[in-house]
Formats: sequence, structure tokens, C-alpha cells
Amino acid sequence: MSLFPRATVLGYPRIGPNRETKKAVEAMWAGRATADETAAALAAVRAGTRARLSELGLEAQPADFSAYDQVWDISSSIGIVPARFELDGALELASYFTVARGEGSRPPLEMTKWFDSNYHYLVPEIGPETQIRLVDDRVVQLATEAPGLRPVVVGPVTLALLAKAADGAPEDFSPLSRLDDIVAAYVELLARLAEAGVEWVQLDEPALTADWPVDVPALVSQAYGVLASRVERPKLLVAATYGELRENLAPLAETAIDGVALDLVRGGIPADVELLAGRTVVAGVVSGRNIWRNNLRASAALLDELRARLGEDTRLAVATSTSLQHVPHDVSRETSLPEDVRSWLAFADQKVGEILTLARGLEEGWDAVEQELALSDAVREARAAHPGVRAGEDPGAGASERVPYEERVDAQRDLGLGALPTTTIGSFPQTSEIRMARAAHRAGKLSDEQYDDAMRAEILHVVKLQEELGLDVLVHGEAERNDMVQYFAELLDGFLATEHGWVQSYGSRCTRPSILWGAVSRPAPMTVAWSSYAASLTEKPMKGMLTGPVTILAWSFVRDDQPLGVTARQVAWALREEVSDLEAAGIRIIQVDEPALRELLPLRADDQAEYIDWSVGSFRLSTSSAAPGTQIHTHLCYSEFNEIIDAIDGLDADVTSIEASRSRMEVLEPVRDRGYARGIGPGVYDIHSPRVPSVEEIEEQLRLAAAVIEPERLWVNPDCGLKTRAYEETIASLANMVEAARRVRG
Ligand code: GLN
Ligand code: ZN
Repeated sequence: MSLFPRATVLGYPRIGPNRETKKAVEAMWAGRATADETAAALAAVRAGTRARLSELGLEAQPADFSAYDQVWDISSSIGIVPARFELDGALELASYFTVARGEGSRPPLEMTKWFDSNYHYLVPEIGPETQIRLVDDRVVQLATEAPGLRPVVVGPVTLALLAKAADGAPEDFSPLSRLDDIVAAYVELLARLAEAGVEWVQLDEPALTADWPVDVPALVSQAYGVLASRVERPKLLVAATYGELRENLAPLAETAIDGVALDLVRGGIPADVELLAGRTVVAGVVSGRNIWRNNLRASAALLDELRARLGEDTRLAVATSTSLQHVPHDVSRETSLPEDVRSWLAFADQKVGEILTLARGLEEGWDAVEQELALSDAVREARAAHPGVRAGEDPGAGASERVPYEERVDAQRDLGLGALPTTTIGSFPQTSEIRMARAAHRAGKLSDEQYDDAMRAEILHVVKLQEELGLDVLVHGEAERNDMVQYFAELLDGFLATEHGWVQSYGSRCTRPSILWGAVSRPAPMTVAWSSYAASLTEKPMKGMLTGPVTILAWSFVRDDQPLGVTARQVAWALREEVSDLEAAGIRIIQVDEPALRELLPLRADDQAEYIDWSVGSFRLSTSSAAPGTQIHTHLCYSEFNEIIDAIDGLDADVTSIEASRSRMEVLEPVRDRGYARGIGPGVYDIHSPRVPSVEEIEEQLRLAAAVIEPERLWVNPDCGLKTRAYEETIASLANMVEAARRVRG
């Protein structure tokens, strides 16, 4: 048996239906579980997944589990471990986590967004000295945990393209120069898998669907020329997820790989798909990204077209477009959703059902599944006819100019901000007391009034703390927000929240995206009471805090039945009303967070202009009603400033804070090179790690920044919000930050 199965998924959620993975690893980090206990708990999650998939009828299963991140899994397995950790060989579970999270003076691996998703991976660090070779048999172990599993590994080209140069590497060093060594390590891995009896291996190569400033087709030939020519290997399935293969299809087809998985949700059938005739083609027709039921009839048509174009000796299979890691487990548990909306949805388990249906239709003819196709049609019609879906107009992009920046600077002078103003990104630690109060409120054990009192007490505490620390622009701390998107989603019409719809964001962190299913509008102010209460407690400027339209879209499951731009403008209009209400309440600084701006950026350059047009336009729509004297801030949560500097410029915010510490202020290069005239706050320390940065360390970062940015425009802030941190490290870190700013001012 070597034909690829008719139905599979490219990956399945790893967090467990009740976030068992998160709980297991966090118990270990907290010292409540041993490494062995944790490993056993993780193995139980995997066994649970296999049992569930079998129960659903899916025989061909991926072995794609990760305890933290799939990129780190393969990089650590082939020796790509930063020298600063002084580790060698196969990593113990504890060391695996140490590198992911940092320890003492050793910063963790940089973390950044995985393609245009809301998942974050750990960036491999490769230098000329890195000893790349297979050191760990994790992949083999997972693959042989049960019979017939298909290991899933990030492919060599993607790994090399995502890597960055290790500390101390020469200026002109590129990790791509080590591709041959990486490939050699994969050759070893493939041999081990073959030896263990593995029949197919899936190499995930999402990098092949994106544009890079290098010759990717040449890398494809270089890597797969070697891998595919090996005799001792399983069959190779290259998964081109997240977009279109375009120029990389032909070089792949020239190698002897056995199959290609295409993302047919993001891209259409490739123009040159015939080049794959005779191989296995895995058609990713069911989205691994959204939660809407598949249009089965459209997918059937797509499969027919593929079959016609590829001919009978091509093995055609049905799958998801990407791993299902981006969607929750099971919609049938969402019993509190309105029944009509629930009937429009498919989470991971329902998608498995759709794939099985399509595979059966492909095998037996579409008549065999006509009932399912008809049901899918009926669901779509009902959804389109629903009044909440049909209501709402496109607010249009007019009215989005503020007066020129220079005039705003004058109008904002009376805010009294000097050189290097210090601030935070908004949230303060979400303590267990806060979470317990929220849970008690939800459960009806705390009245609205008691809950408000608890949140006000927290705000008072946070405001006093900031005054003591000597910060210049204060925040209310966002205690009342379970999540920066969900909070707004719950207050806006057109959204619904799930109960169990968790997805992995990074490591053990999970989020529960809301479902944006209908027309969006704001029935009442959302943040004004909290912000004005906080402002009443201090003489210092209080920053109002909103989540921007693009981020609200990016971190929700968004309706797929109208252009994203229209949905974004509806959200923007609701935020614009909120900005006006904050101003009316006397709030003079308003931050509209857009950490996800880059996340949705199309992977292909020629698709980007359209995106930037509607995303930047919707941000401006949300903020442009502000008076010149109101200072608009935005926060962007990543460090690839260069890629979207035009977009950032287009946002026209008065102040932009960005992530910078993990990349050692590299983000400032484009600022220096092409000039950026407005306020900017390059994060001076990394909040994703519990490590407390020293004054000297922050001072050094600030001096790097001060060399490029004038003192009046240089803001001093952490990389991101503090909600995931504990108070102890937060206070110590902020005190050091304020002191570092004082020294640099002097
Ligand atoms: N204001 C938010 C916070 O501080 C921003 C979080 C983010 O960028 N992801 O938590
Ligand atoms: Zn952030």
C-alpha cells in the first residue's frame, strides 16, 4: 500500500480539547509537575487526538504534535540551538522550554508571526559555526507512536528562510548559506523515518507561497533535488500552505518528490498544475483558517476540474488548506451559540467530516454525497438570507484626513510631554484575582456593581503604581479586558463569542477568537467609563485604549461573504464613535492598537497594495475624527517595520510603538534610512519573557534609538502589554526602564 489516502488533514489542533497541553506545560514551568509527568500528559493529548480522528473516520492521520512550536521542534532536532544556552545534543524537555522562554541573562529565541496567521513561531538562529546535524529523534518517536502516522515537519527551505543570523555572525552571513547542511540533516532524518517504516512524510513549505528577496526556486531545486533523490526515504509530500506556489511549482515538479499539497482556499488551481500529473496531489479545499462550513458543491467542482486537468494516473486526495491548528476543536460543544449561526460553522472536527464527504464523492461519484451537498447549499442560503447578515452598509472611506502632523504637534504641546516620555503599552498583569472576579461575575456570583468595584480597585492600584514608578503617560491597565479583541467583540453588535473555541497563539498561550458573523455596530460606549475613572485619579495624562479595526478582524473569525474592507470599515466606524466619546470625556491621548497590521499582509507583493489600501484606510477612518490636540498612538506588535513602513506612515498616527528589543533595535534602520517624522516608541525590553532587564541593558537600547530619533519623538516603553507578566517582574522592569530613560535624558 503506497497510494496516498483519499482524505487527510495537514495538521490538527495540538492544544487539546480542554487546553490540556497548555495546562501540562504550565504545570511543569510552575514546578507542579515533573518532566516525566508532563511528557505523559502530552502523550495523552496525542492519543486523544488519534482516538478522536479515528472516531470521526479519518484513517490517514498526521503526527504533527508540538509541545511549544513546530519550527523550534525541527530546529532543535537538527542542532540549531543558540550557543548562549550552552546545550548540546538532544534537548531534555526542560531545556527545550528554556530556550523557548529564556532564562536569566539569556534571552529566548525571537518570536514572530507565522505567515499571515495569528500563530507565532520561534525564529531559528543560525551562524557559520552552528553544528547542524540530526541530534534528536523526536520526529521518529512521534511518527511511530501509532501505526500509519504521517510525520509533519517544517521543510528545509522554509526553515532556512525563516532563520536569522546568530549573534556574532559576520555582517554578510546569511543562514541560507547553510542550506546544504540543513538538507544533509533532513537526509539523515528521512533515512531514520524510512528505517522506522514510515511511509509518507509531510514537509511543510509555506515559504514557497510567499515572496522573498532571494531566488526561492533555486533553493527549492537545491533542497528537493537532494532530498528526493535519496533512496532511503519515505514518500515526500511537500505542503505548499497559506497561498499559491506560483514560480515554485515548476522547480518542485522537476524533482522526484512524490506529492504536493496545494492551498486551494487561498489560491486557485495553479496555471501550470499539469506539471504535477502523475504524482499525488492533495487538494486543500477545506480551509484550515476559517470556521465557516465549506461550500461543498464548489469544492466538488474544484476537485472535478483538478481531476480533469491532472488525468487518471494522478492520485488526487482531499485535505485542509493548512493545518487545522488555527481553528478550535468542535462546534457541537458551543451550545450557547444561537442555533442558526451554529449551523453555519465548522470547527476542526466538522472539517474532518467535510473532507471525508468530499473524498467519498471523489471516489464514488458526487451522487453518493448529494444529500450532504444539498445540505451545504441550504446552509449557505439560510445564512445569506439572515437579517443580521444582510443589514449594514459600507460606511465608505471618506472623512479620513487629519490636519498635517506639524499642526497637530503644536496643538498637542500643552500635553506637557518632554524628551523621552515613558509609558506602557496598556495592559498591566492580569492577576488571578482579576480572572477570578471575572469568572465569578460570569457565573453570577458577583453582581455588576461588585465586579465594577473590583475593576475600579484594580485601576486605582495600577494608576498609583505608575505614579510611584514615575511613568509619564499612564494607562488604566485593561483589567476589565479578558482579551483585547474579545472585549470589544462582546460589546459590538455583529459578533458572537464561543465557550470552548480556543486556538494556540504561541507556546502555551491560547486565544478564543470571536465570530464576526453579521453587520457591526456600536450600541453604547465601550471604554469611556473605565478611562475617565482612571483619568480622575491622576494629574498625569491618561491614555485611552482601543483595539483597531484590522486587529479586530485579524483576531476574530471573520465573515467570508463580503470583502474584508467593508467589514473593516464597519468596525472602524464603531471605533470612531468611541474615539469621539473618549475625547468628549476629556481623554487627550488615545492609543488604537494594531498589532495585527502585518499579520494580514498578503504574502505576495502584488497582492499587498489592495490590502494596505483598506487596512490603513480603516485605521484612519477610526481615528481621523480626533481633534488636532488629541494625540493618537498606535501599537504594532512585531519587528518587521521595514516591510510595511509605508503602511505605518499611512496610518498617520502621532506616535507608534513597535516591538524592537528582541531584534536589538534593528527596526530603526529603515527609520534612519528613509526618515520617519512622527513619534516612535521602539520597545526597550521583551515582555514575552519573565526576565527583568537591567538598567544598563535598557539604557543601551535607548542610546541606540536616540542615535536615530530626536528626543522629543522618542518614546520609552516595553515591547508590548504586560498582561501575561507577574507584578514582581513588572515593577522591577518598569523601574529599570524609567531609570534608564532618566539617565539617557541626562
Ligand atoms: N494594549 C494591549 C496590551 O497592552 C496591546 C497588546 C498587543 O499588542 N497584543 O495588552
Ligand atoms: Zn504588542
